[in-house]
Amino acid sequence: VEKEVIQYLSELVSIPSLSSDISMKPEVIKVTELVKSKLIELEAEVKIVENEVDGKNPILLAKIGNNINKKTILFYSHMDVQPALKDDGWDTDPFILTPKDDGYLYGRGTNDDKGPIVATYFAIKKLLEKGDLPVNIAFLYEGEEESASGGFEETVSKHYDYFGKIDGVLVLDTSWFTDEKPSLDYGFRGISYNSIEITGPKKDQHSGLVGGIIREPMTDLVNIFSKLIDLEGRVLIDGFYDDVLPFTDKEAKLYENLEFSIDELRSNIGVTELISSDPKQIMLNMWRYPALSIHGIEGAFYGQGGKTVVPGTVKGKVSMRLVPNQDPDKIAALFKEYVEKEFFKLNSPNKLHVKNLGNGDWWYGDLNNFLFQAGKKSIIDYWGIEPDFARSGGSIPIIPFMEKIFNAPAMGLGVGQSSDGAHSQNERIRVKNLIGAIEVIKNTLTNCS
Ligand SMILES: [Zn+2]
Repeated sequence: VEKEVIQYLSELVSIPSLSSDISMKPEVIKVTELVKSKLIELEAEVKIVENEVDGKNPILLAKIGNNINKKTILFYSHMDVQPALKDDGWDTDPFILTPKDDGYLYGRGTNDDKGPIVATYFAIKKLLEKGDLPVNIAFLYEGEEESASGGFEETVSKHYDYFGKIDGVLVLDTSWFTDEKPSLDYGFRGISYNSIEITGPKKDQHSGLVGGIIREPMTDLVNIFSKLIDLEGRVLIDGFYDDVLPFTDKEAKLYENLEFSIDELRSNIGVTELISSDPKQIMLNMWRYPALSIHGIEGAFYGQGGKTVVPGTVKGKVSMRLVPNQDPDKIAALFKEYVEKEFFKLNSPNKLHVKNLGNGDWWYGDLNNFLFQAGKKSIIDYWGIEPDFARSGGSIPIIPFMEKIFNAPAMGLGVGQSSDGAHSQNERIRVKNLIGAIEVIKNTLTNCS
């Protein structure tokens, strides 16, 4: 099996299926066709549907089995990958799967998500070889995840009844929380992304002319930035924390067994200290509490040297990661209201325009449901160890979307390890993880039947 696994993965990796680059669209189509042909080998019924948003990549829908007495489990993964160039600092060609002596396979997409797609394929293949499938299987594979899943909701909303009843959604798009222990994921944060545009002079000026005689838009913007968050990371927007659920004792138990090294994280990020030296507090801040980040300023001088330009218009970019039960739309409205209030206090003649650039829901799964029970048992049986139950500080808004549209719970099943470098140089996956994932997926399907 190992040889076949590596063969399929190397075919997938050899196709640079970038969703970020419209000129690579044929490659995404090619990878979609390859996945389709492999699923047909499993006697799946496969349908590739056009994306409802113009220019976005198609979505693959497939199903195996239609026994109404069995549950139906839907697999979600994405076939597109992040960009990668050898020059970015890869040791090998990112689009040639390269096995190394360390037990890892290197290449773009090995961890995210081509490895998981391969593991799913072989898990089902093995079940079919044994006889009847314990559950009906459905597949929902997209080609836009690395570009914010463009058109996913619109397209799935149109075609979801292709699947009939869905009982559970397995999301294969995460990694283990550590390198040592498998994990099951039950949460992601939501996001609200906003811009703050401040306009003064109708075009850029020179500080030799306007310095000292006008209120500069950049100065106003920096003032606003300073009012958003304090030095301890507390968001200062009025009402921001109102809907954050209180932390319970039951929840605290979930953090007790997590092995997490603050020093390792610190050195991975490359900072001398984190906002707290308490590992539990850091995990809570990453997963369970909201945060605000300032990302950039559009329109400002950012080149080398000492240019004396005074930008006429600047646009600050700010995002907030959100948690249960914060409503992204409500938070965006609070943000706007607060920035307008603080700008008013500046008593500036400049013009302010606050705009929401996009929101995404958080996801919070139920650890007591049948998926988590089946996943946990399968991991204990194969790896001989209890999985970590993990959340992530990132956002996958399509998970709560799928839960809603299919009226079924979801679970994240990690395949690769935390140090695989999913979006980074020298992305990899351990052969041991791929083989393990095949068994765990297989047994999870059996255990949830
Ligand atoms: Zn991914």
